[in-house]
Amino acid sequence: MTRTWYSAAFCGLLGGALYLSGQPNTVKQIASGVWFREGDLKNHGHCNNIVIEMKDYLVVIDANFPSGAKALIEDIKKLSKKPVKYVFDTHHHGDHAYGNPVWTRAGAITLGHEGVAREMRDREPKRWQEAQGRADVAELKLPTAEPPKQTFSKSPFVLTDGSRKIEFHHFGWAHTKGDGFAFLPNEKIICTGDAVVNGPYNYTGDGHVANWPKVVEGAEKLGATRVLPAHGPAGGAEILAGEKAFMRELWSAVERARKSGKKLSDVVVTVNGKRTKANIELPASVKNWVGDFFPDQVYDTWMEMDKGKPRGDLTL
Ligand SMILES: [Zn+2]
Repeated sequence: MTRTWYSAAFCGLLGGALYLSGQPNTVKQIASGVWFREGDLKNHGHCNNIVIEMKDYLVVIDANFPSGAKALIEDIKKLSKKPVKYVFDTHHHGDHAYGNPVWTRAGAITLGHEGVAREMRDREPKRWQEAQGRADVAELKLPTAEPPKQTFSKSPFVLTDGSRKIEFHHFGWAHTKGDGFAFLPNEKIICTGDAVVNGPYNYTGDGHVANWPKVVEGAEKLGATRVLPAHGPAGGAEILAGEKAFMRELWSAVERARKSGKKLSDVVVTVNGKRTKANIELPASVKNWVGDFFPDQVYDTWMEMDKGKPRGDLTL
């Protein structure tokens, strides 16, 4: 489950979190020329997408899985006749970037922070091969994942054409080393990828738990009033505050358990190699972020503290 979270296992374990899902496969207009498409996470492992209209072209946030990319391409035809010029990978995970070849073949330029390409260099083709059980990935008949064709290292990277401005920011390592945010300064809309989600969707296996709140703080400083996460429904700035609080509470709770002399096996219950339960309570204020991933999140946080290294560096 842990390292192939984008496959069937991920879909299955989210069964308990259905109450949070809004309306998968529907497109909602957030502002003039800005649309939010909620992905079908349960059935297809898809992430959410955002479509942003510029003067002569469209920008898409997240490539999604190949089947998610194709579903979005169909929906875009109903929104605008303009071509998709850029597709921004918020990070390297399959449900955000494995659709890259679909977009490239359609004539778009995939874009990401240099950390996205670096993560793919370090972690592929292993995960691509593990994802061959997905028909949409297998039918591309490619040996590995396709990194974004264009990368940037200086944050923010800015796209503007006189009609609209998009800033692509990198505030450091939270969910992955390549975490990117797309911010529309005039509309005060932020697209957060998986660094900020609205629900129990935080995968910490490639993450840096201790640094996560600082990254969210960087995003908060932009002053967005509308937050479009990659998983879970859209909302306001409370999603940023909640994500930050969840990561802080998670860290503190694990730290308290360790200081009280508890062992990892006291805190995380493992059955047949699967982490099934965490004997740790977080405050009710962050319960929106607590779900089936929780035992893994506690384990990942414990390991990061124990080894004195970001969790993501321990899985390389
Ligand atoms: Zn992710």
